[in-house]
Amino acid sequence: MIEKKVNSFACQCGCGFNNTSLDFIDIILGIEKKYACCIIVTSGCRCRQHNKDIGGKDDSRHTYCDTCDFTTVPIAMLKIISKDLDENWEGGFHYYPEKNIIHLDRGDKRRW
Ligand SMILES: [Zn+2]
Ligand SMILES: [Zn+2]
Repeated sequence: MIEKKVNSFACQCGCGFNNTSLDFIDIILGIEKKYACCIIVTSGCRCRQHNKDIGGKDDSRHTYCDTCDFTTVPIAMLKIISKDLDENWEGGFHYYPEKNIIHLDRGDKRRW
């Protein structure tokens, strides 16, 4: 289970870049457990080149590997989780309702 999760955080260009810490992955697994849903990581680590290729911000947290964008199955859970994280998460958080994605990172506490 954790193995599968670790792999889902790897850079999607295929370069294999993945320094995501196990305790960050544990947090994600904890959210799945708390809400009895499945979290699908849509973007985890990004190497500089891939970040650039997909139009990420220059200093995107994704290049630090303490970050993920995710959606959930069932999708209805995303809004509920987003409320929880918005209130309680001590790092960066943003919910993109139009894309059905939550961005979560361990940088400074930010909302945008
Ligand atoms: Zn890459
Ligand atoms: Zn993101």
